[in-house]
Amino acid sequence: QFWPKRVPYSLTIPETTIYDNLTVSAKRYPSKEAIIYYGGTLSYSQLLKEVDQTAAFLEKELDVSKGENVLLFMQNSPQFVIAYYAILRANAVVVPINPMLTAEELSFYIKDCEIKTAVVGQELYDRTESLLSSTTLTNIVTAAYSYYAGDESEIPAEVALETKQLNKPYHYTWEDAIDHQLKASEYDRSINDVAVMPYTSGTTGLPKGCIHPNRTVQANAVGACQWMNLTADGNHLVTLPLFHVTGMLHSMHAPIYSGAPMVIMTRWDRNLAAKYIEKYKIANWVNISTMLIDFLSNPNLSNYSLSSLKILAGGGAPLPAAVGEKLYHLTGLRFIEGYGLSETISHTHFNPPDFPKLQCLGVPSFDVDARIIEPTTMKELGVGEIGEIVVNGPQVFDGYYNREDENRNSFLEIEGKRFFRTGDIARYDEEGYFFIIDRVKRMVNASGYKVWPTEVESMLYKHPAVQQACVVGVPDPRRGETVKAFVILNDNAKGKVTEKEIVEWSKEQMAAYKYPRMVEFMDAFPTTSSGKILWRKLQENEKQKAEGV
Ligand code: AMP
Repeated sequence: QFWPKRVPYSLTIPETTIYDNLTVSAKRYPSKEAIIYYGGTLSYSQLLKEVDQTAAFLEKELDVSKGENVLLFMQNSPQFVIAYYAILRANAVVVPINPMLTAEELSFYIKDCEIKTAVVGQELYDRTESLLSSTTLTNIVTAAYSYYAGDESEIPAEVALETKQLNKPYHYTWEDAIDHQLKASEYDRSINDVAVMPYTSGTTGLPKGCIHPNRTVQANAVGACQWMNLTADGNHLVTLPLFHVTGMLHSMHAPIYSGAPMVIMTRWDRNLAAKYIEKYKIANWVNISTMLIDFLSNPNLSNYSLSSLKILAGGGAPLPAAVGEKLYHLTGLRFIEGYGLSETISHTHFNPPDFPKLQCLGVPSFDVDARIIEPTTMKELGVGEIGEIVVNGPQVFDGYYNREDENRNSFLEIEGKRFFRTGDIARYDEEGYFFIIDRVKRMVNASGYKVWPTEVESMLYKHPAVQQACVVGVPDPRRGETVKAFVILNDNAKGKVTEKEIVEWSKEQMAAYKYPRMVEFMDAFPTTSSGKILWRKLQENEKQKAEGV
């Protein structure tokens, strides 16, 4: 066998938790900057202190208990990092949700995993308040961050918590934390305790939580640092959303594990990103194709020095080869593309930094056994043959939360090992590099934001004029793919409701990346003999139209 396929690399994963990584970095580098945020800074020891104080607040005032799911609904900010690690410190489980979601969308997640406490960005409070009466939610903790005070404000990066339900603004002090006896000695947590539950639809149906114990997260945090040789000296630019696995792992857990500073941006701004790279001598930047395309097409880019950059990596969506080439011409850097899923807490594959290939998922990373199978017969395939990627590795999740059927269908056994079915169609070459071809699963990848057609369809069914809906992904030059809905109207709505009206209505119901930007009315859908809608046929037609076939 050639080298990457049969697990040649092995990595020892420490028997410690994600929170422990922060305590170690705070001991090794107490006064070093952990977070740089629009002019404000927080050292590693300050970050640990904020985390412990916040954890004490969650435990003591809000009765957050071991194993409880806590919603984290926040934009990128120091408070996101503080709240995330505080939830872990309180022995609870982080449920990070996209801050773009509407209240209606959010209610699904809250009910699905019985959330009682939510930590939300202050600007998102209004969106969550109504859920106190309609869901299991009982407490909303708001956190204020200085982004809205503007760039270069000298507002400290620390957390300011408040919960209106307790009717008192509250900022827990260090003495409060000690009073609560939240000392390291009392911290009792195992690597098998659940740490985080990111949501995804997987291959079918509605979103579901992926159960990740500390063990899987730690495997990828340590793996990322080893793979790309990340050290305490390499500053990170944080521009990917931290609620999503790629940003969470590579722009937060990996820097904290290695004791490196994170320069956090709340909103993407290509000029500011270039300025920060120069000013803070950024070495590591994980991003996504749309961001990189925008960054490289900035006419002012030559005004900034990008010479500190060492690693530019990313995943979650394909990077067009031309963008990788442009990057190389401008900076001399090769883009290190990776591949993975929420179920694997980011990467299972990475390109070797010294020998990356373009438009390629890379080779299986440490201890990952990845194979290609024929999706119906499950027979294993060989070099160059096209089939579904299945993975076994230390980062593979324990299963979906409360979803017995999906858990049965998402795994298979090969040679006595448990493999996760990714729903992605790929092949590998003679050197063991994987290349993605297609997907078996119903998912639209709009510049890395995953849209699940079933979720959009169930929202569309709430419109009184909609009798049937089928949502597909159509090619989009800028975002890779975009969302289109085919709709059959109720008889009494025909001729009265316009396609534009459905688009406008959807815009109000769903997050901006998710609502169908195109709606087309049909009289009937193509179906199988059993009446199943042939969504793939509709999607193929759109692809052919875009290609001018
Ligand atoms: P998520 O759970 O949001 O991380 O989405 C996982 C999905 O993103 C995978 O199943 C793939 O379909 C897609 N994906 C991840 N990395 C890549 C990549 N490098 N190229 C193309 N698609 C990718």
